[in-house]
Amino acid sequence: MQKNQGLKILFISSEISPFAKTGGLADVAGSLPKALKASGNDIRLVMPKYKCINPNMCYVTDFPIKMGDEEKTCIVKKDYIKLKTGNQYDWLPVYFIDNYYYYNRKGLYCHHDDGERFAFFCRAVVKMLPTINFKPDIIHCNDWHSGPVCMLLKEKSRKYPFYKDISSIFTIHNLEYQGQFDRDILRYFEVDESVFTPDKVEFYGGFNFAKAGLVYSDTISTVSSTYAEEIKTSIYGEGLDGVLNKRSDDLFGIINGISYNEFNPETDSSITKNYSADSLEDKKHNSTSLQVEMGLPVRDVPIIGVVSRLTGQKGLELIADVIEDIMRYDLQFILLGTGDPYYEDIFTNIGIKYPDKAGIYIGFNIGLAQRIYAGSDMFLMPSRFEPCGLGQLISLRYGTIPVVRKTGGLADTIIDYDTDNEDGNGFVFEDFNSHKMLDAVKRALKLYNTNHEKWKQLAGRGMKFDYSWREQAEKYIDLYKTTLRRKNKESQ
Ligand code: ADP
Repeated sequence: MQKNQGLKILFISSEISPFAKTGGLADVAGSLPKALKASGNDIRLVMPKYKCINPNMCYVTDFPIKMGDEEKTCIVKKDYIKLKTGNQYDWLPVYFIDNYYYYNRKGLYCHHDDGERFAFFCRAVVKMLPTINFKPDIIHCNDWHSGPVCMLLKEKSRKYPFYKDISSIFTIHNLEYQGQFDRDILRYFEVDESVFTPDKVEFYGGFNFAKAGLVYSDTISTVSSTYAEEIKTSIYGEGLDGVLNKRSDDLFGIINGISYNEFNPETDSSITKNYSADSLEDKKHNSTSLQVEMGLPVRDVPIIGVVSRLTGQKGLELIADVIEDIMRYDLQFILLGTGDPYYEDIFTNIGIKYPDKAGIYIGFNIGLAQRIYAGSDMFLMPSRFEPCGLGQLISLRYGTIPVVRKTGGLADTIIDYDTDNEDGNGFVFEDFNSHKMLDAVKRALKLYNTNHEKWKQLAGRGMKFDYSWREQAEKYIDLYKTTLRRKNKESQ
């Protein structure tokens, strides 16, 4: 990667792999900054210090924050992510915002006072900046949890020159989650009441964290070009399409990458047998051990895998709707997921009904996820909407063929094999309809069962696609530069 002049970037995320993860945001936050650092930027990260994170880290500073009528103490701590650049090791600093009361709890989210918890986080991030000897050129906010940082920067810069020339970018990883809270939350930000209007943070009478990011950031990005267009429509815009249309010129789509070190079938230590595109036959060992691990009979049949949060977004009802038809085929279906109890029950029952054909694991298990990517032949992702999707990218890397609905990042990364024999890397269906999904599954099964050589070629081709951060990180650097230019123009 080309070295550049080096920007100073603060990357804010509510979850960062390997410290805490519930979904793709953590993967992105744990890998994009590494690529940005490797290309010569001074990038640092910041996240809350949850209970699940190892407490052995350096103390940096502490200060009080007035939260309504009470004063709460913020302790800033620091740890590092190790990265390898060429033959050298480097260290990526990660700041942790700690407050025992707010963050020393089970789980990352879904507490009754999440609005207050993340208001504290945003305030702490902004307040720590002058004390840590790091003044970023760019603050990169990710999803609703850090949206109000963009607002605080603009508001603070009226009084404090320190914040004046810091630019902000807000990235939407999933617009469904917006951080919509009562108006009362405003008091935790200590900003002027005038921010609470429909053209700013007010949304249906409440305070909307994502809207604060969308309105106040200098530029906005999301994680695929198709999703960038989709969210400007009322179908995908989650009520914020009006705001996004207004800021259309400042909205960019950059597809996510994945870490090609972490997701590497040649070196992955959580799978049974390592393999590459040139030794695809070794993938079979992983299928066999996956069958054993999931309590299924060891048989030479195609395996359809799913690794997913179990939520309405993921189109799981399409699978449930035609599961009987799928089960008529000689195959096995393996699902790993957790989330909405409604879907957990549906899939648990499928496991009970088809003990020899369906292996269901309700829970979060990173090692098993890797073994499913490695041991499955197909990976099913029939999402209702999908901002980017990482599951299909990880699958490609492991020679597992994605079967996906054409939406968001799935539309941008998976090319239908039947319509493009030369470049196809998966099976794609368009309408959100269980029978259309079933047709795509049948097409995949037909190729698997009738033309082993072509299937192998398809899997090998998928493994050679480059969805690493190499090129995507360069696009972020260009976007940071655009953001700086726009900010400079605005302040002239
Ligand atoms: P989203 O961010 O909407 O959940 P993505 O496809 O972008 O979806 O990313 C999901 C990430 O979380 C992938 O790395 C996937 O392997 C992982 N994942 C999802 N569910 C589980 C689970 N139950 N156990 C382990 N990893 C999971």
